[in-house]
Amino acid sequence: MLGLMQDWPLLVHKILDHAALYHANREVVTRTVEGPIHHTTYGEMAPRARRVAHALERRGIKLGDRVATLAWNSYRHMETWYGITGIGAVYHTLNPRLFPDQIVYIANHANDRALFFDTTFTDLVVQIAPKLKNVEFYVALCDREHLPKADLPNLIAYEDFIADADPAFAWKDFDENTACGLCYTSGTTGNPKGVLYSHRSNVLHAMMVAQADAHGLSNKDSVLAVVPMFHANAWALAFEAPMVGAKIVFPGPKFDGASIYELLDTEKVTMTAAVPTVWLMLLQYLEENNLKLPNLNSVLIGGSACPRSMIETFEKKYGVEVIHAWGMTEMSPLGTLGTMKHDIVDLPYEQKLDYKCKQGHAPFGVEMKIVDAEDRELPRDGKAFGRLKVRGPAIAKGYMGGDGKDAFDSEGWFDTGDVATLDPRGYMTITDRAKDVIKSGGEWISSIEIENLAVGHPAVAEAAVIGVVHPKWDERPLLVVVLKEGKTASKDDLLNYLSGKIAKWWMPDDVAFVDELPHTATGKIQKSALREKFGSYRLPTAAE
Ligand code: ADP
Repeated sequence: MLGLMQDWPLLVHKILDHAALYHANREVVTRTVEGPIHHTTYGEMAPRARRVAHALERRGIKLGDRVATLAWNSYRHMETWYGITGIGAVYHTLNPRLFPDQIVYIANHANDRALFFDTTFTDLVVQIAPKLKNVEFYVALCDREHLPKADLPNLIAYEDFIADADPAFAWKDFDENTACGLCYTSGTTGNPKGVLYSHRSNVLHAMMVAQADAHGLSNKDSVLAVVPMFHANAWALAFEAPMVGAKIVFPGPKFDGASIYELLDTEKVTMTAAVPTVWLMLLQYLEENNLKLPNLNSVLIGGSACPRSMIETFEKKYGVEVIHAWGMTEMSPLGTLGTMKHDIVDLPYEQKLDYKCKQGHAPFGVEMKIVDAEDRELPRDGKAFGRLKVRGPAIAKGYMGGDGKDAFDSEGWFDTGDVATLDPRGYMTITDRAKDVIKSGGEWISSIEIENLAVGHPAVAEAAVIGVVHPKWDERPLLVVVLKEGKTASKDDLLNYLSGKIAKWWMPDDVAFVDELPHTATGKIQKSALREKFGSYRLPTAAE
């Protein structure tokens, strides 16, 4: 017997309709590529998104077609997303930080039919355009005045593209399981793989993460979406904010401390979200200029582990709550969020901090388990660690074109490639990525834990720990460090600092000082490149 409730498909563009109807005056603020700060509202945005939909349809874009964007976070980028999804086409975010050849591979693999781009990337687009086999037209996200003089087929300025399109254009009707968005993983191993979100998964994911004990975004918030829309859906913010009617602020192309601070201040931002490297820049800027963050209530930090020292600085010095989050492109992307549960919230701060350093607990809609090498489930005791597997309505069940089948098992679990513990309260802790774990004498050493401690040293700007070949132990940890400008520290200083904070056999065998660490296109330390660089490194302990 079926229920007698309405079949109201969960379609992404309904979110914008909702915002336009019930939160019409709520602002959308953008630092534009041209420089000035632009202000609009959900009420003004919705008809412009419908114009995009109409303009795309007139160009022959139809249900299931992929339309690429190569763009910073902005109101035009957001309108483009909603316009694309409103006709059942698929927005495909390209990450401009990838190598041009990788972008070409991804755009061709996805069969992108059109490309919307910020003028910042004009040279890049001109360079790759001859290799983009299926792109029929290019839309520069600007007005006619700023249209670059570029040799691109069928190039048009965004404002001209939508100028005479219908602001009352009717969204198309289709099933909620229709593909909606596409984002490729950065492909640290092998070729990038496409994660294909559906309307249903995007809507459910936004509802899941907006909950009070997850992100807790509300209509009263002003949220600065620093995390790029090309990095796993901007962690749902472009859906979540209009869903609850929060003001949304976009940083455009500028992520430096001064620019981020300016928006936090002038737009009275209460919540924000980004990877730890962005916050390192902001914290440094605040310290140098003796500034405070009076409006900001919370900051969502994820993408890589958030160091304890960063959580402490935000919370103790600036009174800003840190929500540590974990997720991945395949999970839409949020999997766990580290808000404090009822039996932790009143603990002494140091004990609470232990929980804040964990990656958090799962909202409804994310199932997690850890397994051993034989795929047997391990206990949720906070000690046993194994490969983390996940299941849920906003988690991938396969990759575009059938790539990467090994990650999915017959019971519908997706293998995250992360190694983790689960504790009895439901908090998950990532100990490593399976491929980064250091295998010493048959035991595993968590590179993440050592890194997080090392960046707590006052002279350390960034740190990475990798396994280096050792004749007796297989691998031993090497700590690779970038020092803060003008600061000094010796190998012994750093090892003394770590001593007593981690098990003796986890202590790095050596410390290497470098000017900078390699980063991936999503701002993470690229361990594979580091391992290559130190491939023939001889540890001082190797002769023992
Ligand atoms: P990529 O950067 O490889 O394209 P994602 O952005 O999807 O992929 O990254 C997902 C991975 O990032 C996770 O599997 C995990 O290893 C790592 N990660 C994300 N958040 C955290 C966190 N809070 N702590 C530790 N690792 C994290």
